[in-house]
Amino acid sequence: MNEELRKKLSQVVEKTVSNLQSAGNLETLNEIRVGVLGKKGELKQLMKGMKDIPAEERPRFGQLVNEARDKIEENIDFVKKNLEKAAMEAKIASESIDVTLPARRPEIGHRHPNTIALEEVQRIFVGMGYEVVEGPEIEYDEYNFEKLNIPANHPAKDEQDTFYINKEILLRTQTSPIQARVMEQGKLPIRMIAPGRVFRSDEVDATHSPSFHQIEGLVVDKHITLSDLKGTLAEFAKELFGPETKTKFRPHHFPFTEPSAEMDVSCFKCGGKGCRFCKGEGWIEILGCGMVHPHVFEMCGIDPEEYTGFAFGVGLERIALLKYEIDDMRLLYENDIRFLRQF
Ligand SMILES: [Zn+2]
Repeated sequence: MNEELRKKLSQVVEKTVSNLQSAGNLETLNEIRVGVLGKKGELKQLMKGMKDIPAEERPRFGQLVNEARDKIEENIDFVKKNLEKAAMEAKIASESIDVTLPARRPEIGHRHPNTIALEEVQRIFVGMGYEVVEGPEIEYDEYNFEKLNIPANHPAKDEQDTFYINKEILLRTQTSPIQARVMEQGKLPIRMIAPGRVFRSDEVDATHSPSFHQIEGLVVDKHITLSDLKGTLAEFAKELFGPETKTKFRPHHFPFTEPSAEMDVSCFKCGGKGCRFCKGEGWIEILGCGMVHPHVFEMCGIDPEEYTGFAFGVGLERIALLKYEIDDMRLLYENDIRFLRQF
C-alpha cells in the first residue's frame, strides 16, 4: 500500500472536515464540496495516482477513497442541514410581527379649497332652487363652440385653444356646452348650475393652468329679464362674500349671450375704498354673464319669442383664490397637505 497516497487521502478528509465546520453559509459549503468531490476535485486528483500503485493494492485503495468520499458527504449533509435550519430561523425572525408595536395611524386628508368653494357655491344656488348638472369633459366641437354661437372662423375659438382628440372631439374649454345639452332636452323651465373641469392649452404659471374648473349657470323660463340676472347674481355675491358686498355690471361680449356683462364685486377686504388686495380698484372681477342669445335658443329648439333666460360662468379657482386669499394658483394643484390643512 502506497503510504504516501494513504496519507494524502486522510489529509484531504481532515482538511475538508475542518473547512466544513467553519463554513458560514451554503455558498461556501458548495465551494468546498466542488473543491473536493467535483470533476477536478482533490479526490479525483488522488485517483489519478492509482496507476502508480501495484495492481493488487488498487482495490484496497479504491475502497479507501470510497470511504473518504462517504465521510466527506456525511459531513457535508450534516453542515448543510444546520445551515439551512439557521437560514430558516433567521428568515422567520426577520419577518416576524411585533404585535406590541403601536399601530401606524392612517393619514387623514383634508378637503381641498376648490372643493370647499364648490360646496359653498352649490349650497347657495341649490338654496335658490337650482339643480346641479354635469356634462362630459371630452366634448364635441359642435357643443363646445358651434351651438354656443362660436362658428369655425370665430376669434373666440383661437382664444380658447385646447387639446383635440380629433377634428370633431376635444377637451372642453368651458362648462358652457352643458347649457346646450340641457336646453336640447327641452324640459322647461331650467334652473341649473353645472360645475366641472375644463381645459386650455396654457402654460402653467401663477394664474394659468391647462386644467381648471368652471361653474356654469343657466336659467330659462318665460319672462326672465336682465333684472332677474342682476338680482340673482347680486344675491350670490352677498352670500359668498358677505352681506355688505356690492355688485357692478360692466358691458362685455360673449358670443352666446346678448347683452353680455362682467360682474365685479366690491372688495371684501376694504369695502371698496381700495387696498392692496383689490390693487387699489375697490372692485374685483368675479364672473361673466348675459341674456341667452336668441340664436342659441333656436339651435337648441327653444322658441326665443316665448322663452328668455340668462347664463353665467364663474371660475372655481378664482373664487377659491379670492375667498382664501391664495396668491398662486399652482398651490391648488400641488397637493401639499401642509398647504391644504390651512383651510
Ligand atoms: Zn380692496
